[in-house]
Amino acid sequence: MPFICENVECRAVLARGQVRSRREDEGWCFYCPDCNARNELKDIGVAGGPVELVQPERSDLPHKVIATARPLEDGTYTANLRVQRALGTKGTYAAEERWEQLGVFLNAHEAVAHAKSIAADWLDRKA
Ligand SMILES: [Zn+2]
Repeated sequence: MPFICENVECRAVLARGQVRSRREDEGWCFYCPDCNARNELKDIGVAGGPVELVQPERSDLPHKVIATARPLEDGTYTANLRVQRALGTKGTYAAEERWEQLGVFLNAHEAVAHAKSIAADWLDRKA
C-alpha cells in the first residue's frame, strides 16, 4: 500500500521507499516530498517487535461545505448550500453541488444549521 499525501491540493501517491518516516514527540509521521505537508502514521507492530507503519484511515476528507442563510422580504430566512466533496485520490474536488431555498426559517442560525445537516446527510450517502 502506498502512502497518499493528506494535503488535498497535493494528494501525491508515494511508494513507501519514497518517504522517510520519522518519530516525533506526537508520534510517527512523514513529510510529503512534493509539498512538505506533515502526514500522520500509526505503528501497528506488536509491542517489542519491529515497527510497522500504516496511514490512519480517514473518513473525514476535507470536504468544502458552505452553508448560508439568505434573508427573505418577510423577515424569515431561507438556506442555501454549496458542497464540494473531496476525492480520496489526487485530483482534488468533485464538481460543486448546490441547493437553494432549503425551506423557510425564523432566523439565520436555524437556516445554516439545517443546511449543514443536509450536507452531512448527503456526504454520508456518498461515502
Ligand atoms: Zn503532499
